[in-house]
Amino acid sequence: MTRYVSTRGGVAPVDFETAVLQGFAPDGGLYVPATIPRISPEQLHLWSRLEFVDLAFEIISQFIDPAVMAADDLHRLLAGSFRQFEHPDIIPVVPLKSRPDTYIMELFHGPTLSFKDVAMGFLVNTVDYFLDRNNDWISLVVATTGDTGPAAAHAALGKKHIQCWVLFPQGMISDEQARQMTTLKADNVHAVGVTGCTDGGDDLDRVLARMFADDDLKQRLKLSSVNSINWCRVMVQAVHYFYSYFRVVEQIGEKVAFAVPTGAFGNLFGGYLARSLGLPVEAFILANNQNAALHRTLSTGRFTRAEVKPSLSSAIDIGVPYNFWRYLYFACGGNSAQIRQWMADLQQKGVVELDAETAGAIRQGFLSASVSDQETLDTMARVYQSPDGYVMDPHTAVALTAAEKCTGRLAAGTKVICLATAHAAKFPDTVKKALAPQGRLPGQAQHNTIENAKNLSQNMHIWDLPELASALPQAMQSAALYKP
Ligand SMILES: *Cc1c(COP(=O)(O)O)cnc(C)c1O
Repeated sequence: MTRYVSTRGGVAPVDFETAVLQGFAPDGGLYVPATIPRISPEQLHLWSRLEFVDLAFEIISQFIDPAVMAADDLHRLLAGSFRQFEHPDIIPVVPLKSRPDTYIMELFHGPTLSFKDVAMGFLVNTVDYFLDRNNDWISLVVATTGDTGPAAAHAALGKKHIQCWVLFPQGMISDEQARQMTTLKADNVHAVGVTGCTDGGDDLDRVLARMFADDDLKQRLKLSSVNSINWCRVMVQAVHYFYSYFRVVEQIGEKVAFAVPTGAFGNLFGGYLARSLGLPVEAFILANNQNAALHRTLSTGRFTRAEVKPSLSSAIDIGVPYNFWRYLYFACGGNSAQIRQWMADLQQKGVVELDAETAGAIRQGFLSASVSDQETLDTMARVYQSPDGYVMDPHTAVALTAAEKCTGRLAAGTKVICLATAHAAKFPDTVKKALAPQGRLPGQAQHNTIENAKNLSQNMHIWDLPELASALPQAMQSAALYKP
């Protein structure tokens, strides 16, 4: 029976439903499975022939009791979650001609063209499934400075038990991203542009934190979030590591490397989970941009909070990589007293000094690099001008550049799979800067959904930051139509 425990050790083990609906554990920790099963090489052989949804079903079945979600329901929810992906392979893997043994794993063929679609669809479908069974509803609130809001809004479209609110700092996200939220036509999805956010997303986070801390409000409006710490998201993010592995190896057992552009360590924790399940991984290449909290931690054994400087790869501009706590929990042998101490250290002193043993453990099978904006632009231009002619988004370029910096430390001939986390059409300004300062944007950097959204009418609330704390709950109250 799969049970979940908190990294802080302060709650009795819970089932999958509770872990998903709660997000954070009540003690402020993150839910992790009490045990991770080990998949045999024979089993991997069988899995290697499966299509994406069937493979996802096998992997995710390892973590959900049939008593909590029947196998048929799980399969149906998974199929529904990936139906809107526009590529027949769902997550295709493309070999590069210009670099030997290098592949691009395209995670951006979902409805909002970023990696966030990979797990958000299944998470929201799963939440709606449990709410339906419990005759309940929620107000799903997401503050976004990039890809999470659009993914959540699309995933929530038309869901009977979910009123979804996506908030963004007006004028501080790209027009392309804003329109992915404001041009949706559904009664249960509400876009909110907030003016006067001098601190960007942090201003919104502060207002939401106060709302979530108000127990009365929280219960009356059934406030809930779907942030990147939700166990369901990291679990789904293990699947693409298996799927792409099976596409590139000659035989099961061959070791490959994955280069992953990371900010919050969510996607990378999915990779770590895949390796723990038995996927043969030579190394993960952790790719930071100039905000290199994780690269520094791996290099020095010191985990510090740092000021975030905006970069061209904005989705990974993150100061405190929250999912890293899950990795530290396993690296220190599941010692929750130690995790509590370290979390207090980070809070109070702004720095965690890892002991030598843990500092060594987190380096096992991990390489890392930090990539500047200039290097990002150079890589985008070089790959476009190479025989590949491939247009990549800035996050993908961070991964490929980090892979290039780390190849010398891999066994010769190791295949490297770079994770492409966004479609180039989401970052037209950066693509233009890198590839065509004077000319036209290449066709590959355009996408019909982005182009179509330019002609649709926008539908949104616009509130000034000081009025948000009263206007939002009021609007939520009047939208709270569903009374079980
Ligand atoms: C969210 C995101 C990432 C990083 O996600 P992590 O959870 O930090 O791994 C990378 N690239 C893009 C485009 C994203 O939207």
